Amino acid sequence: MSLNHDGPRIATTSAAHAWSPNVAGVHQDPYVQTEDSAIETKTAVSSRFWPGGFSGPASEDLVLVSCDRISFYVHSTVILAASSNSFADLIRSTRLAVASRNVEHDVVNVRETSSVLNIILHSIYNLSCAPYAPTNGDLITAVDTFPRYGFSVHTHVAPSTAFFQVLLSRVHTDPLEFYALAGHHDLYALASCASAHLLGLKVGSIPVEVVERMGPVYLNRLLSLHQTRLDALKAILAGPPAPHSLTYGCDEESQASLARAWSLVAAYLIWEMRPQLTPISLELTLGQLARNIRCPLCKTSFDARLAGVMTAWGFVQQSI
Ligand SMILES: [Zn+2]
Repeated sequence: MSLNHDGPRIATTSAAHAWSPNVAGVHQDPYVQTEDSAIETKTAVSSRFWPGGFSGPASEDLVLVSCDRISFYVHSTVILAASSNSFADLIRSTRLAVASRNVEHDVVNVRETSSVLNIILHSIYNLSCAPYAPTNGDLITAVDTFPRYGFSVHTHVAPSTAFFQVLLSRVHTDPLEFYALAGHHDLYALASCASAHLLGLKVGSIPVEVVERMGPVYLNRLLSLHQTRLDALKAILAGPPAPHSLTYGCDEESQASLARAWSLVAAYLIWEMRPQLTPISLELTLGQLARNIRCPLCKTSFDARLAGVMTAWGFVQQSI
């Protein structure tokens, strides 16, 4: 089944009226008489899920109406195939009621807003909702809503889905909320992506409700990531640049001075910057030591040590 971009410009419900698209992806101001009411109710039709919006042999036979009165024309077969509970039993009960009234479409009113329902339906059809620029809050609400309608979170937020790519593009904007979402639903791939943006997070500052939402398993994974990186940093920075043979211009004390300076900077990096330390900040901070090195042999040794540190830090685990 594919999206039909050349479909008719007129909605064809039981009481069809013209509409025009707006930037929010909703066709505004049609007056559509819903099948379960004799009163004309002002609604609008989704610009993606409209009658004839998909090419293929099957036409839309189900109308989902959001709480803000936006109609989404969908295929009951698609919804029922994805749902383990007949769309929260709304489709089954609606069909029983509709059967006695001989109307064109089954109409189901849902409690979600059109923004959230739009995301959910895009996910069920494996279409990207990115063009509608949904908010992070609506994306998160949509995932939390999947179970209510019997949709598998693991199936519809799998890394191969269009929805996962949308989430991935937003993770960096609010990594803690997305990490908590992932932890709550045991979405490891999403949590892993989010964790890479939480390296500088002070775990003690996470609000209790966020800790509870992510759960102990994912909290522990985040703590373990931080500890792993801290232990690795300590190991990588341990030991100053290798000393060289004594020369006329560089005696034992000069080289010991460089070693002490290295240790001080290493301690600063470990205790002040810790797991979020980037290769650039690591190089810049350690590189400041090079300004005071006059001995060419010490400089060579320092450069080799710094290069080794940079390489090793680049290989340290950056996500859960
Ligand atoms: Zn030297």
